[in-house]
Parts: sequence; C-alpha cells; structure tokens
Amino acid sequence: MSNLVVIAGGAAMGSSVAAHLLADPDFGGRVLVVEKDPSYRLAGSALSAASIRQQYSQAVNVRLSLHGLAFLRDPGRFLPVGEDPPALGLREGGYLYLAGTETGAGALRRNNALQRQEGAEIALLDAAALAARFPWLETGDLLLGSHGVTGEGWFDGWALLQLLRGAARRLGATFVADEVVGFRREGGRISGAVLKERGEVPCRALVDCAGSGGAALARLAGIDIPVRAKRRSVFSFSSRNPLPRCPLLIDTTGVWMRPDGEPRPEGRSFIAGWSPPAAADPDWSDDDPASREVDWELFEEVVWPALASRIPALAEIRPGRAWAGPYDMNLADHNAVIGPAPGLENFHLCNGFSGHGLQHAPGIGRGLAELIVHGRFRTLDLSALGFLRIIENRPLVEDNVI
Ligand SMILES: Cc1cc2nc3c(=O)[nH]c(=O)nc-3n(C[C@H](O)[C@H](O)[C@H](O)COP(=O)(O)OP(=O)(O)OC[C@H]3O[C@@H](n4cnc5c(N)ncnc54)[C@H](O)[C@@H]3O)c2cc1C
Repeated sequence: MSNLVVIAGGAAMGSSVAAHLLADPDFGGRVLVVEKDPSYRLAGSALSAASIRQQYSQAVNVRLSLHGLAFLRDPGRFLPVGEDPPALGLREGGYLYLAGTETGAGALRRNNALQRQEGAEIALLDAAALAARFPWLETGDLLLGSHGVTGEGWFDGWALLQLLRGAARRLGATFVADEVVGFRREGGRISGAVLKERGEVPCRALVDCAGSGGAALARLAGIDIPVRAKRRSVFSFSSRNPLPRCPLLIDTTGVWMRPDGEPRPEGRSFIAGWSPPAAADPDWSDDDPASREVDWELFEEVVWPALASRIPALAEIRPGRAWAGPYDMNLADHNAVIGPAPGLENFHLCNGFSGHGLQHAPGIGRGLAELIVHGRFRTLDLSALGFLRIIENRPLVEDNVI
C-alpha cells in the first residue's frame, strides 16, 4: 500500500497538516500537497483579517485559540521554522465585544465563565469601566463589554501561511501546482487521488484542505458537507484621531473594526467589516468574478454609520482600499468539520472554519496529524468537531461568529 498522504489545498490548513504530519516521528510516510493556485490569490488565508480571539461560546474553539496564541508567540516551540523565519507580527490589542441589551449582556457573562474556565484572560467591563478605559467610545446605550486582557489581537496572516509552508517543505513535504479533480474509491477507502495534470496518484489517505472549494471536492467523493463559501468584504480607512488602546471592537450592530499597522503622526489606519444576515448572504465562487467583488454599499450603508455613531471621532475618516475574500461557512453550526468522512475512513475533512480558521490552523494541523498517525487525538481533543454531529443532527453551535 502507498505510504503517501495527499493534501488537497496548500494554504494555511494544508501546510499546517503537512508540517505536523512530518514533524511526528511515528509518521513514517510521505506528504504531497496539491495546490491549484500557488499565488494564493483567492485563498482565505491570504485575504484574511488575521486576528485571534479567545472569546468563543464553545470550549473547543477557546482551546484551539489558546494553542494558536502559543504558536504565534513562539512558533519554533512546535515546528522547525528555520534560522530566519517570517515575523508573525502578533499585536495583543485585545477584542472588545459590546452588549446593549440584557440578552446580549447575559450571553457575554455566560461565555465569560466558559472562557475563564478554559484559561483565557477575559474581563467584563460595565459602562462606566468602558468609558474610563476607552474614552473615545460612545457608551450611553451599553450595558456591558467583554475585553480580552491578554492573548487576543491580530497578526500577519501572510507570514503565518509562509511560515507553515516553509516548515512543511523543510520537513520534506512536496508541493505541486495542480488540482485534485477526482478519486479512486475501493470499498470504504480512497486508494488514489486524480490530479488534473499528473493523473492518478495512489495514496494511503487524503485530506480536504481546499477552503472555499472544500465542499465541491468532498462532493466528488460522494460526501455532502453543509459548508458554503460566503463573500466577506474588508474595508480600510484612516483617521487623524488615533484612538488610544483601540482593540478589535465588535459593536452591538455586529460591525467590527481594528487598528491596522502602527499609529503615525498623521493618524492611524483601521480595517472593518460586517457579516450580512444568513438570508441576505451571497455566495462566493472562484469561477464567478462578480461574486468576488467588494460590496462597497456595505461600507456606506452599514459599516461606517455604525462606527461613526459608536466612535464619534470617526465621523471624519479617509476611506482606503477594500478587498473581498471567501468564508467557508458551516451552515449547520458555524464550526469546523474535522476528521474522517462518513463511509470513507481515510478521506479526512478539514473544512467549514466559518471565519476563524487562520488562528486555528496550528491547532487543527496538529490535531488532524495526530488522528491520521495515531488514530486518536493526543494533545488537543478535536472530537467535538467530527462529522458525526452533523449526521446525528447534534449541532455544536458557535454563537460568536464575526
Ligand atoms: C475576509 C476574511 C477575514 C477573515 N478573518 C479572519 C480572522 O480575523 N481570523 C481568523 O482566524 N480567520 C479569519 N478568516 C478565515 C481564515 O482566513 C480561513 O478560515 C482560513 O484561512 C482557511 O484556510 P484554508 O487553508 O482552510 O483555506 P484557504 O486559505 O482558502 O486555502 C484553500 C486552498 O485550496 C486550494 N484549492 C481549492 N480547491 C483545490 C483543489 N481541488 N485542488 C488543489 N487545491 C485546491 C485553493 O487554491 C486555496 O489555496 C477570514 C477570512 C476572510 C475571507
């Protein structure tokens, strides 16, 4: 039998799985990473807002983020990163979730108990404490805020992708520019991956790390996962008012913003965005340029008005560039689907990150590699993210999706 693991998709997840497989001394196999577009032009990993938080409603996500944080602080502890690794640029500016209703405040309190229990350092601030800490914030309508004291912030997403890719290569992974377009099935197993240019490649396992193409790839193997690619627009702007100690803010409207880069004498740059409600959330398709265009109206009609009313100093801004990228949304519960597909024991799903995948790439790669090599999770238990919950209709709903 072949000892080759084929990974479809060579961005953050594919590179992380590859690196962690090869870093495991018990692996004893080879890894082929198949990436259809090595420029990563349309990859979520390259178009990400690259931020990390501990503020989730599900314990497994807090644990994955705590691991992501440890990795971002010191990647060399986990993988061979070389003598001159790309700087990951972690800025621990915190997240700040705001609540203006009793329901919202109750959710912040409930989540806070879980987050603290998992070891995250998150503080609850009433309106007076919010006004004292963030004097530029309009707090008149607020009941509570939830603020990451440490361990939350933003980083250089492209550098993380390059670091993971570099580690995988250093450990011996082969990256090829090609596309997985089919499979050979033998009973309850995949025995080969069919590549567009190279034809069939025998393999012992396949990992679907195809991001927004992940559901289509799984469908080629007869597996239907409830994951759809959704367009997300990110808008940059600058303000002459630097907003001291500005965290990544999630307003009561759901609009988010964070600083981008260092403050300069002439002001500061920010990025911002908003996720439309599910009923009005357009799909993203790599094959349809119109579906990938920035939704400029969103900035004028939703994002900026919400920010200007929450932060009066942002009534005057200078709009900058914007971009759109794909969220691979798990429509069932907004959480990743990790591990074997139903009825295909060596086809591993690694999909549906619903907008929080980049920070989880180190932990998901480590966990999935353990599952493939040892048949079980050893350091990070990701069993809650298995496909079984989807089949049995036991959704693991993540409430904090941005
Ligand atoms: C606008 C935006 C903001 C975000 N903000 C954050 C954030 O702040 N924090 C965070 O943690 N996450 C964030 N995310 C989500 C995060 O970026 C993604 O969850 C993560 O990067 C997914 O990584 P991936 O490797 O699974 O997929 P991708 O990066 O999308 O990579 C998939 C790769 O697979 C390749 N591929 C597809 N099909 C095939 C095939 N058949 N054969 C071979 N190759 C194939 C593609 O070319 C692509 O390179 C954001 C995403 C977007 C779009």
